[in-house]
Amino acid sequence: MQAFRLVMVAVLGVLVAVHSEVTATDGWVVISYLLGTGVLSATVLARYRSLALRAFSISLITDGIFVQLAHDRLGHQAAVDVVVAAQLVAVCLLASYRTGLKLAVWQSLLIVLTWRAQESGLLHFVQMAGVDRESAAIGDMVMLWLVVLTTSVAGAINERELRRRRYDAEALERLAAALLTDDTSAAVRERLRRFVVAELGAARAVVSPRAGEDGSGSAFLNLAATATGATLTLRLDPRRDRALDAALPGARRLAAIPLPTVGVQRELVFLVLDFGASRWRSARVERRVIASATQAAATAALAMARARLMEQAQRAAVTDGLTGVANRRAFDEALAGYERDWRERAVPFVLALIDVDHFKRVNDVHGHPVGDAVLAVVARVLTEQAGSRAFVARYGGEEFALVMPAMDTATAAVIADRVRMALPEAESPVRVTASIGVAGVPEDADGIQAVVRAADDALLLAKRTGRNRVVIAGPDTQAALLQHEAQSDRT
Ligand code: GH3
Ligand code: MG
Ligand code: MG
Repeated sequence: MQAFRLVMVAVLGVLVAVHSEVTATDGWVVISYLLGTGVLSATVLARYRSLALRAFSISLITDGIFVQLAHDRLGHQAAVDVVVAAQLVAVCLLASYRTGLKLAVWQSLLIVLTWRAQESGLLHFVQMAGVDRESAAIGDMVMLWLVVLTTSVAGAINERELRRRRYDAEALERLAAALLTDDTSAAVRERLRRFVVAELGAARAVVSPRAGEDGSGSAFLNLAATATGATLTLRLDPRRDRALDAALPGARRLAAIPLPTVGVQRELVFLVLDFGASRWRSARVERRVIASATQAAATAALAMARARLMEQAQRAAVTDGLTGVANRRAFDEALAGYERDWRERAVPFVLALIDVDHFKRVNDVHGHPVGDAVLAVVARVLTEQAGSRAFVARYGGEEFALVMPAMDTATAAVIADRVRMALPEAESPVRVTASIGVAGVPEDADGIQAVVRAADDALLLAKRTGRNRVVIAGPDTQAALLQHEAQSDRT
């Protein structure tokens, strides 16, 4: 502002010098003006912001008085009007459009005051030839308001855009922080979807892979996959974008933004925004919104990759790598859970232990890789036959476990027999059979250790009595086992 003031004073100085004598008073006025506003402006260097703001406002009011003085000293001249206009433009752009508007009000008051003072003979100033004072004052004011309104509208649009950008930046920061707390890719997708609706003004949004859930492709997303950045369309084609059209029925003005691929991610996922029907037919989707949505998509892609890794690690920790069923650790945890349900809510459960018959021979005759494939078949048959409420695990080696909650041993034995019969019929590199021991809580045992022991004994009895059998644990299991041992000792 101070640089602007120096230029303004120089221009006015030249004008005074050209048109009349420069008086001592002129000199003093200019010096006091420059010194005063200089000191006031220097307060911006001070640490107290409120003081600096107040001083700056006073310096702007001083500008107004000075410009009016110059105006009256030099009379109604185009050059002086340009200086007044330039001062308003400078204030609107350098300070804010609101200050510019306030200054216009202030200058208008000064013009009215001077005009009245001249009328009443209190002041006497140079007057423009051929123009009466009233028209000159009104002309001044019209010019002043035209300038200030034009500049402040431009300033206001500028400020609004800046405010929106700052708001977006803050919202994106919050999104990035919140995404750190999402441990599943589904949670990341949902947060991204909600973000673009709540913060970027999308009517609806979906995070969708290129092909729909039902395997149908999307022409729009196929097109978006070939583009760099966002792809826009006015509406979807229900025949060629079936899944997307089902997710966003009646969507108008859409944008598809691909999530950057991170790591070994296979499928390309899109953030699809529906900006809805607009009241203005030609309403454009703002570039700022697309930029913010693109940034949000990139942040979410990173969070998604991280969540996927965590999901994989969690799954690996409880899954048997060879067969894909639960591993021993997950089995122990699940069993503890079933025992808790029994103690707290009296929910009974049955444990079946399944051991493949003569499995060592499979390995010996066909080799370990074939043995591995057979184990995978056994796990598949178990999962298929046991039903959705049963828990299937690899207990160790070629032994599997089946836990059936809320069931008695008789019902469980029927399921176990179904498994036994299905196994030799299954498509497998080698036909195998299995022996199964079944024991239940509370029928045969009152806790984890006891039920495992009872099922183990029943399994052993199944082996001793010919294999490819289901044996239900009971009070006679131990005696039967001893009898068979005695028999085998005699033979
Ligand atoms: P039985 O009918 O009495 O159960 O005889 P079996 O041969 O099945 O029993 P045994 O315990 O003698 O042999 C189990 C074999 O299972 C021994 C081991 O090498 C094999 N085995 C254990 N885990 C795996 C595995 O992950 N892959 C393969 N291929 N074999 C395994
Ligand atoms: Mg075994
Ligand atoms: Mg075996």
